[in-house]
Amino acid sequence: PLPFHELCARIHGRIAVFLDAEDVSDRVKSVQEQTRVSLNVIDQALEQYSLPELSLAYNGGKDCLVLLILYLCALHDRGLTRTDNPSSNIDTAVQCVYIQDAHPFAEVEAFVAQSIKTYSLALLEYAKPMKAAFADYLRDTPSVKAILVGTRRTDPHGEHLKHFDPTDSGWPKFVRVHPVIDWHYVDIWTFIRYLNIPYCTLYDLGYTSLGGTTDTQPNPALARQSSSQQVPQLDAANGAVNGTSKPKFRPAYELVDDYEERLGRDR
Ligand code: FAD
Ligand code: MG
Ligand code: MG
Repeated sequence: PLPFHELCARIHGRIAVFLDAEDVSDRVKSVQEQTRVSLNVIDQALEQYSLPELSLAYNGGKDCLVLLILYLCALHDRGLTRTDNPSSNIDTAVQCVYIQDAHPFAEVEAFVAQSIKTYSLALLEYAKPMKAAFADYLRDTPSVKAILVGTRRTDPHGEHLKHFDPTDSGWPKFVRVHPVIDWHYVDIWTFIRYLNIPYCTLYDLGYTSLGGTTDTQPNPALARQSSSQQVPQLDAANGAVNGTSKPKFRPAYELVDDYEERLGRDR
């Protein structure tokens, strides 16, 4: 992989080109606007907290992937990726916390492992319920005061969140930072595809929201009509069946409606 400062410089350069692009669709224009807002929120966090005080909740999903890319861009912008900057510490530049699902997808695990290498993440992993995991994380990393989270407005519990919120009572105490709170589902995919950012392979198989293997299926809204007019089977394996090779589900980026994102999830 590229050296960290080089990687961040390239990401910064690509985002600058993206932000400067003119003659773009209204959809891209609104993602440019959201990107500026998010970078500003991350910059406020970097103004308020030192790097050892900041962490990012990363589970390999599309939303925290966008958040991570914006964070790396913002680190470059503040000169925090240079080894000659006394306030930067490459070892803790990108502190992350990952809480493994009880039944993780191998593809998600592989993508998180790849992300650690590509983006030089200092990632700690826990396999327990979220509250307990964050209690352990704060005990293991007591410098952390604020955690960047990729929650969006249309997620469960996302409706009333602000850019900065202390955790709710009953949760371990830290500040949640929500830079991408007002991004829509389609904005996330527009950004990822415009900037050509590698993402977890499950999204190309029609998964739009990633949980564990026991509660997550490809999104039925992305099922292709089968040629024999049969109703597509939700649990059917993707890919080749009897020599026919058309995948049964369209990729995640073809969905547009925020409220259809979780149709492949139980409950
Ligand atoms: P997703 O889109 O899967 O997750 C949204 C974002 O949450 C992701 O982009 C990522 O940044 C983070 N995240 C989700 N799952 C993981 C994971 N397994 N490992 C690491 N990061 C993950 N709920 C409350 O009611 N009150 C709270 O005070 C509160 N504090 C939280 C603080 C943090 C840092 C996190 C990560 C969650 C917190 N939650 C809290 C839970 C939150 O409201 C969601 O229930 C939770 O993030 C799962 O999100 P999701 O699956 O609905 O959406
Ligand atoms: Mg999400
Ligand atoms: Mg989730």
